[in-house]
Amino acid sequence: SEELTGADVAAVFHRYAKTVAELKDLLTELDTAVGDGDHGTNLDRGMRAAVEALDAGTPGTPGAVFNLVGRRLVSTVGGASGALYGTAFLRAAGAAGDATGLDASRMAAVLRQATDGIAARGKCAAGDKTMYDVWSAATEAVESAAAGGTGLAAALSAGAVAAAETVRRMVPWQARRGRASYLGERSVGHRDPGAVSSQALFECLAAQAAA
Ligand code: ADP
Ligand code: MG
Ligand code: MG
Repeated sequence: SEELTGADVAAVFHRYAKTVAELKDLLTELDTAVGDGDHGTNLDRGMRAAVEALDAGTPGTPGAVFNLVGRRLVSTVGGASGALYGTAFLRAAGAAGDATGLDASRMAAVLRQATDGIAARGKCAAGDKTMYDVWSAATEAVESAAAGGTGLAAALSAGAVAAAETVRRMVPWQARRGRASYLGERSVGHRDPGAVSSQALFECLAAQAAA
């Protein structure tokens, strides 16, 4: 579709909760190698709570859905990722405002605010080897597609491709933020757990827009 309504954004999060449950063991394994081994359980707990809140009464607009999910993540996930994803979705909610639908250019603006929120909250920058690198690359891809007049489904598909490519490109990097940075050079050669879970989110967005 060329626009995501509130119900569509809620469907993105249902899709994402299911994907996170499937990726839980992988995310845990990745975070065991470079962190404290809880990224899978953190995000699974948070997304279960988010979907539960959505099911209790799906809010009408995309902004209201982002707001509810963001608040649930902040309150149920103790780790860094809860604050980071939570901040991203709360910023997304602010950017979406009262709009009843998100087309490609509005989606680009929403993702830009979310991405900037992660940078502010994480005090991170491009190249630090965190989830931010994936958000940043995917957002840039959506922005440039939207600026070129591409529709929502194709723009989000470009975002998902950029996300996947960035996860692969980051493997040889050394982490400079988060627990993985404590490993120094030993963080080289691993996929960042938050980068992988972020790639999955962009794939869920693209899949929903393509549905
Ligand atoms: P914790 O590190 O508190 O256990 P999680 O394991 O749930 O939290 O999440 C780890 C992920 O969070 C990392 O893989 C990374 O992508 C992201 N992350 C951690 N710290 C930062 C930061 N300062 N800036 C951006 N992203 C970060
Ligand atoms: Mg962890
Ligand atoms: Mg932790």
